[in-house]
Amino acid sequence: MRAMVFEEVGQPLRAVERPVPIPAPGQLLLRVHACGVCRTDLHLLDGEVPIASPPRILGHQIVGTVEARGAGEPTMGAGERGAGAAETGAGAGERGAGAAGDGAPAAIGQRVGVPWLGWTCGECAYCRSGRENLCTRALFTGRDLDGGMAEYVVADERFCFDLPPGYPDEQAAPLLCAGLIGFRALRLCGDPHTLGLYGFGAAAHLLAQVALWLGRRVFAFTRPGDLAAQAFARELGAVWAGGSDEPPPEPLDAAILFAPVGTLVPLALRAVAPGGVVVCGGIHMSDLPSFPYSALWEERVLRSVANLTRLDAEEFLALAPLVPVRTRVTVYPLEEANRALADLRGGRFVGAGVLRVP
Ligand SMILES: [Zn+2]
Ligand SMILES: [Zn+2]
Repeated sequence: MRAMVFEEVGQPLRAVERPVPIPAPGQLLLRVHACGVCRTDLHLLDGEVPIASPPRILGHQIVGTVEARGAGEPTMGAGERGAGAAETGAGAGERGAGAAGDGAPAAIGQRVGVPWLGWTCGECAYCRSGRENLCTRALFTGRDLDGGMAEYVVADERFCFDLPPGYPDEQAAPLLCAGLIGFRALRLCGDPHTLGLYGFGAAAHLLAQVALWLGRRVFAFTRPGDLAAQAFARELGAVWAGGSDEPPPEPLDAAILFAPVGTLVPLALRAVAPGGVVVCGGIHMSDLPSFPYSALWEERVLRSVANLTRLDAEEFLALAPLVPVRTRVTVYPLEEANRALADLRGGRFVGAGVLRVP
């Protein structure tokens, strides 16, 4: 199969031929149809988020169809099956979180999506308290496990999700990270009437639609001078759009930072009202500058959001078609993954970038 492989920090992905992977027990073999690119992929390329054992196929917003399933009883995640609610020992596919959503194993030919969270232990304190996004032994798709920038991928069936019909493959891919992480970040904001989004890219353009549907007023902050992104935000319904160096026209109840720029943190804290929440939505940020305590005073809250849980995925993928969330995508062939990533870095498309795998 063809695959785009990370070999070394600072080097572009390399197009290689690889054998089609063989699914282990509990895994599905998927024929990949589309895979989104994400800012996290840039952090991986730059070494800001390390890849422990290259070479590695990147890509963690995967849309594919089930080609085969691993034979036999899975051994991974045994603790979870012991502690879980839905398991009787006939296999991981019985989990309610499995691809079919109704607890049935995924069928051959069924379309599923694979997100960043690729495996959790089911045994640690985080897994046992509904916080598997913080699992101490978690494995992540496209970092610890080979991802979707390839013709085939294997994935743990418990982390494969049924996708809403009505979304073509390229349109569905950005739901799996940009959509999910944004949704989790929004929930960490509490119940804001006014919401600021710093960095109006893949995640923000999806989250803005959800927030508006929930009756929030959305304020979009882009790179200073990025008039295309500001126009896009207004088109989606933002009541205000401006540069990230500008104060909003009124104090905000909450703000989410998708731009990986630490200097935005004190700006966002000053943009929120007393009691307001600032959520950092990325996996990596440049260093935060020191700032006076007065920026945090009056019960302002500064926090991050990490990864996702399977519950986040189920809830968001059920919500998206109700809004309905529409994804704006720019599509590249698999072989042009490096160009897609360069365009993401340069802000050369609005919305999300997606690789098509024919
Ligand atoms: Zn991502
Ligand atoms: Zn765990």
